Amino acid sequence: MIRTYCCVLFLYFCSMETVVSGARPTGGLQIGNYFGAIRNFVQMQEEFDKCYFFVADYHSLTTHPEAKELNYHVKELLATYLACGLDPEKATIYIQSHLPQIPELYLLFNMFAYKGELEKVPTFKEKVRSQTESGKSVNAGLLTYPVLMSVDILIHRALKVPVGKDQLAHIEMARDYAKRFNYMTKSEYFPEPVGFSYTKELIKVPALDGSGKMSKSAANPNSAIFLMDEDKVLRKKIMRATTDSGPTEENQAKPEVIENLFDLMRLVSTEDVVCHYESAYNDCSIRYGDMKKQLAEDMAQLVNPIRERIKDLIKDETYLAKVVKDGGEQARESAAKTLKGAKELMGMNYFG
Ligand code: AMP
Repeated sequence: MIRTYCCVLFLYFCSMETVVSGARPTGGLQIGNYFGAIRNFVQMQEEFDKCYFFVADYHSLTTHPEAKELNYHVKELLATYLACGLDPEKATIYIQSHLPQIPELYLLFNMFAYKGELEKVPTFKEKVRSQTESGKSVNAGLLTYPVLMSVDILIHRALKVPVGKDQLAHIEMARDYAKRFNYMTKSEYFPEPVGFSYTKELIKVPALDGSGKMSKSAANPNSAIFLMDEDKVLRKKIMRATTDSGPTEENQAKPEVIENLFDLMRLVSTEDVVCHYESAYNDCSIRYGDMKKQLAEDMAQLVNPIRERIKDLIKDETYLAKVVKDGGEQARESAAKTLKGAKELMGMNYFG
């Protein structure tokens, strides 16, 4: 009896934790975004009272998109959120730049974020390398990206952040900034946020060509499966995924590209199907062509209906506008409260 009561109480307190996450409108989403982030958003909106999911348009400016492109991708991302199952009745959906409190808190946070630590962030170093190679400049927005991301989370004093594994270092920085602010203001104002996934760990969905993580802006567009890929395109990409010439000894360890293929299969296929191909690999009878055909079929079952819903939703601009108008109002209310409290703690409430 006591145990049941404690359990109910625990679930009640968990449901009160605030959730925040978003994605950048830098192109159509790929299945790494779906499995690393969006799928969790959809489940979390059922279990947590306060969920904020946003379109990170400021973040996308670090890579200088064309105005027309940005405008389209913001609408496409909103349509994608809704097509994947986000419900404006259950979660607050908004556009980052609709909250003027975000740049204001970002300015304040920049005062206790240090150049040296920002320069050491692995994603920044990687971006510097790739942008310099392609002759692009590196702007200050790119350097302070983790500060803005911390503000995105802390503007609602959120604790849980559903993200992919690539965001771990950024979440760690958000924790540091929360701690730093609390220490400076002798308060416990900001919670220390944590990355969240319903899987055992935060996940990384691999690219199809063995080039690391799947990414919407990869140089090789065939390395990613996009939620907007037509059925034929999606199947073709999977059939062309990198493999090797097959196992030569029973129970031999899988090379990375083959492990990647199994990882993708674990995301969309049933346990029986995965077991079947695992055994076939272990006794060297596997035919990668058959495995890829099965994987393509199971992936198509997931992606096809989402793609068709995105196509419908993107045409309904009136509905999309209403979703972000209502979401923006709710999000601004929460953000204004947080900002006011933070400024008071910093002594910036000069005349009441
Ligand atoms: P972005 O498009 O970079 O704004 O990413 C949006 C979300 O998708 C973030 O939570 C990322 O961690 C997640 N994500 C992006 N690519 C992958 C991937 N290949 N595997 C897992 N999560 C990913």
